Amino acid sequence: MLTVESFYENARSGKLVGLVCPSGHATVPPKNTCLACGSSMLEVKQLSGRGKILSFTEVFVKSKEYPVDTPYVLALVRLNEGGKLLGVLEQKPSTKEIDGLEVRVEFRQVLPDEKWPRIFFRLE
Ligand SMILES: [Zn+2]
Repeated sequence: MLTVESFYENARSGKLVGLVCPSGHATVPPKNTCLACGSSMLEVKQLSGRGKILSFTEVFVKSKEYPVDTPYVLALVRLNEGGKLLGVLEQKPSTKEIDGLEVRVEFRQVLPDEKWPRIFFRLE
């Protein structure tokens, strides 16, 4: 069983794990059922950590809860195995045309004392 805690424990060692149903849909971070088809027959699998940007926006407001230097780019990424993740894109894409832009997931500790790493994306 992949719990949110074990998801982040893997993330700490740089591994992206997700849940994959018999139809091959990936659900990340973990949920009780497949987000695509509702199956509860989920298997824990390590994912490639690669995906494509679906959308992004620029954030100008700094927050204590999310103390990343502003402005930063928040991106929604579809993973190659399926499933979507929201995270900080380390650089703003040079063009508004994002079709086909590939990224790789990286986990980073933002605050020294925080429990879990945050999700970042690096342009490939
Ligand atoms: Zn499914």
